[in-house]
Amino acid sequence: MNRRYFYLATLVVLIPGILISEPPKIAPITLDKPPVEILFSGVTSMSTGAAVFLRIDWNQSISSPCESTSSKVSNDSASSIIQWQPVGTCILPMIRVADKNYILPINGHYPDEAMLSDVSSETLRNTLRASTILRSDYRLTSLRVREFFDIINDVLSARDQKFSLPIKNAKLPTQATHLPNSPRPFRAESTDGVHHGFDFYTAEGTPVLAIEDGTILHVKRDFSWNEMNHLLSGKNELEEQENLDVYRGNTVYLKTRSGHVAIYAHLQKIPDNIQEGQTVTKGEVVWHVGDSAVPDKKYLYHLHFELAMNPFVDERAGSYDFNDVLLWSFWWKSKSADWIRSHDDGLFE
Ligand SMILES: [Zn+2]
Repeated sequence: MNRRYFYLATLVVLIPGILISEPPKIAPITLDKPPVEILFSGVTSMSTGAAVFLRIDWNQSISSPCESTSSKVSNDSASSIIQWQPVGTCILPMIRVADKNYILPINGHYPDEAMLSDVSSETLRNTLRASTILRSDYRLTSLRVREFFDIINDVLSARDQKFSLPIKNAKLPTQATHLPNSPRPFRAESTDGVHHGFDFYTAEGTPVLAIEDGTILHVKRDFSWNEMNHLLSGKNELEEQENLDVYRGNTVYLKTRSGHVAIYAHLQKIPDNIQEGQTVTKGEVVWHVGDSAVPDKKYLYHLHFELAMNPFVDERAGSYDFNDVLLWSFWWKSKSADWIRSHDDGLFE
């Protein structure tokens, strides 16, 4: 055994033992051990508040997007244990060690499912790998910490599964004008002038379903035609996207567990009991097909459905808002109709 790690392992047993009633079980040191280990969070008898205890290989480069709002206390370079205690608000408590990112389950600052869905699979896997002690001895952790790792597993497994279609028993449209990238010259001046999604033609009032478990991110309700008289100049991409959002009419934005955002547009008037932050399960009705913002009677009634691709930004320590989502790329952007028709089976059941 490397002499340095032998020394560290000895101290790791001793130091937390002072803080808690029982020392944590220390995972055996292996050659491919991550350079950071998440020891435990929020269970000290010292009542230190928001904190997470880490063991770090200080030979590696260490940084954090949260550095400006966090403080490291109990920094014992001999033991390599630090107590990471944020003093401000950090959207995603993170640490970067040896060029890999890890999300920290800081007691009192646990990222929720919608936030963890914004994190790359690689970082989520890094975090699970660094948490061997937490996972091997849950007695040392609060229920929230256990939930934190359960959510990471849920997000990763959601990314391996297919979406259901937004209309029951429907098939993905194949007609060129109903596909992503079909030209939309009537709105070319105020938007990017292309179609971002699929149009499912169906009867008025047809139920529209959640394609995956998730959280309602945003609701655009009570569309009125008067909004078309107040479009922005479209001088930059955000203004184009904000204009496009007017053309969507009444819209529900569902942040799926895997992280991508399903956009359901031209819905019927959305009642007040459909609210942002509501969680929904796959297959649940999120509203009904309508004709809001559909200008031409020959295009009545259809569900306009898009998927906004989450870029899985690991460095998202600061705030972000709905405008970021508007700027995400849509799925199948720039692909030909033939390409889309032959590559639809990877995404939906
Ligand atoms: Zn459409």
